[in-house]
Amino acid sequence: MSRLGALYPAADLPYVSLGTSPTPVRRLDGLGVSQEVWLKDEAAFGDGGWGGNKVRKLEWIIPEAHRRNKKTMFTVGGIGTHWGLAAALYGREHGLHTVLGLVDQPIDDHVREQTARLDASGATIYRYPSVARLKLAAPMILARHRMPYYLPAGGSSPVGSLGYVEVALEIAEQVAAGELPEPATVVSAVGSGGTVAGLALGFRLAGLSTRVFGAVVNDSFRLDAVTTSRLATKTADLMRSRGADIGKVVIGPDDLTATSKWMGETYGATTPEGANALALAERVAGLELEPVYTAKALAAILEGNIPGPILYLNTHGPRPVA
Ligand SMILES: *Cc1c(COP(=O)(O)O)cnc(C)c1O
Repeated sequence: MSRLGALYPAADLPYVSLGTSPTPVRRLDGLGVSQEVWLKDEAAFGDGGWGGNKVRKLEWIIPEAHRRNKKTMFTVGGIGTHWGLAAALYGREHGLHTVLGLVDQPIDDHVREQTARLDASGATIYRYPSVARLKLAAPMILARHRMPYYLPAGGSSPVGSLGYVEVALEIAEQVAAGELPEPATVVSAVGSGGTVAGLALGFRLAGLSTRVFGAVVNDSFRLDAVTTSRLATKTADLMRSRGADIGKVVIGPDDLTATSKWMGETYGATTPEGANALALAERVAGLELEPVYTAKALAAILEGNIPGPILYLNTHGPRPVA
């Protein structure tokens, strides 16, 4: 059973466990900042041995698809999408076919490998040169697949965001058990917003005063405190509409921080601060980050201005081997 389900037993929010929780926390020393920094390692999450933070969302999205009597999910992303691959492979194990609308992105070795995995995943794939072309084609895709369950990029719908409400409750439990001090700030990368939105709502529900700091790494859509806090409020609305007794909860733009300061030029661009953070994490903590998300979130911490104790989320899961 989920923590959320235990807290709100009357709520009709179906859940399927896809990984082992709680994910481990440990202190990170040697980062050269005065704040205490702790790590919560979401990389360890996912029964397939891989996946990271997207699997947390699928624990709520997959059973919601069944609840809606859907056999097919439709979602979107770049041609190297990790989210799309996680949806295809974890969905397949739970009786769901995945249809992907993918948009071209610059090709490098990593994107080539992802493309091969996506081709082998069993998903039905439509590729387009631009977001505009994908949008034009979307009605055709929806009709051809008989109105599949649509999920926005990154799985950041209110249902997907429940995954990080759950993680906030998990963190609250770990704090109560004395595994780590109550964080003043939790720091995560922001790619589509569901992770920080869910966390902000979850801390409110858990009664922690922990603030969420998001290092935005994606400029494909508007991601700031306004849009991410709105997603948190929509997630609260969903919970209430499904019978969770949470009262009126509104998360506003002052309740969380989302800044693009660490993104660099664009999504996927490497930055010197990120490269430095990546090397430092490996050297002092044996922690393997990647340059696009997690290195940039750690770079934000290394600047030294975020209130501590800080809990840093490593959201990056290892890749599937096959
Ligand atoms: C998707 C992703 C994120 C961001 O999560 P969102 O909920 O999309 O904001 C962070 N880190 C990694 C490694 C991701 O793949």
